[in-house]
Amino acid sequence: MAKVYWMNDRSSSYQTSLVAKMLTLFDAAGLNELVSPGDVVAIKIHTGEFNNTAYLRPVYVRALVDKIKGLGGDPMVVDTTTLPYSPFPSRSTALDLLKSVARNGFTPDALGAPIVIADGYIGTDDVRIDLPEGFILKEQYIATGIALADVMIALTHFKGHPMGTFGGALKNIGVGCASKRGKLNLHLGGHPKYGLNTRAWMPERCAKEECPEYQVCLHLCPYGAIVHTDETVLFHRDKCRGCLACVPVVTMCGVGFLPDDYFDATAAAIVDSALAATKAVGPEKCGYISLALDISPWCDCVNYSDRPIVPNLGLFASMDPVAIDSACLRKAKESAGMPDSIAMAKGAMDPGVPKFAACGSFIGVSEEIQPNVGQQIGMGTRQFELIEVEPLEDATPFLFTTVPAGAKLGRPFAKKGDIYPPGGFKRKDEVDLEDVREP
Ligand code: SF4
Ligand code: SF4
Repeated sequence: MAKVYWMNDRSSSYQTSLVAKMLTLFDAAGLNELVSPGDVVAIKIHTGEFNNTAYLRPVYVRALVDKIKGLGGDPMVVDTTTLPYSPFPSRSTALDLLKSVARNGFTPDALGAPIVIADGYIGTDDVRIDLPEGFILKEQYIATGIALADVMIALTHFKGHPMGTFGGALKNIGVGCASKRGKLNLHLGGHPKYGLNTRAWMPERCAKEECPEYQVCLHLCPYGAIVHTDETVLFHRDKCRGCLACVPVVTMCGVGFLPDDYFDATAAAIVDSALAATKAVGPEKCGYISLALDISPWCDCVNYSDRPIVPNLGLFASMDPVAIDSACLRKAKESAGMPDSIAMAKGAMDPGVPKFAACGSFIGVSEEIQPNVGQQIGMGTRQFELIEVEPLEDATPFLFTTVPAGAKLGRPFAKKGDIYPPGGFKRKDEVDLEDVREP
């Protein structure tokens, strides 16, 4: 049985700030023992899509960077280029990704460590990992900048995900450590049964110039698989690599369809890819922190963030990626849904209802696929002991400074001279507070 360490998201002191709790959990789960002096430590985060607002705040990453430096490690913050996923991608080259990363507040100054786009300029810098034990993938391609690290800490925002149904530790490293070629693989591009190349195509539904998306559609496919002629719109299946750039457009208009079980098979492939990432680094050198806060129904990879579907579930840490995802999932299932969120619209408000199957995937894909596949391929176990961790009593490790206010400000105040106006500030001696207390 794996151990998962947990703290709630309530806070009322230095020791119970969520940053302090994250660091307390880091030690409680033994993640500090992963780092030896001189180790290059990849902190894998999701830096958030353009205009997403639910991704983890940079302060969590900074605190982890400082912690790892304190252990003698050499931290770097890593993410990878994406597939287009939409007609207007904002993270599919290192150039675009670095712009989006900075706009979301992740800068070397803020983080105290370099940001490494681990698969290179357009995502082709990778390492091949053999996966004989994979559920569906038998090989995978992992970003070089992650594969060659000594240690990986996956700092994950737990939330929903349109393909994985939920996005936890397995998805953070499964999708997020894959190079672009690896992402084409895990999204099953070219697969004879589940690949987008196999989808049904109904060109007779195309509105051509009458369609508001027509100009976009003309330039949609980076591989030239979608071609508009005077009469129709052709789909060259042999050219489709499954990059998803066209999906939001041609699926919505009813010309292209998703293959049966496409999302289910992709959810499984995400976990195979996660296994490849841990094999590249070394499974015993990987640790997991998941912050189940701002639990939006879809991932940080969409360019908006809907109201959370459940209240904050707390902070988790473990050495087992399957167990930590299972623990987060169970907490979400046990929770009541968030009023006026999509959970209400989907009838998933009651404790006991699987929240992500209802809200995370728009076609109702099971939220059990990822942890079940993870257990089946030997990444970890769904059996976990949830250990509640108490905040530390000593505030010292979480203080900005150990110099008290009088010592810090006494001298500059004395040098500046008294800034208090002679005779005091101009104010009324008394006011009617009863009057402004009334509703
Ligand atoms: S979005 Fe659909 S309807 Fe519009 S031009 Fe493209 S294929 Fe035709
Ligand atoms: S047709 Fe295939 S390769 Fe082209 S944009 Fe769509 S998913 Fe990508």
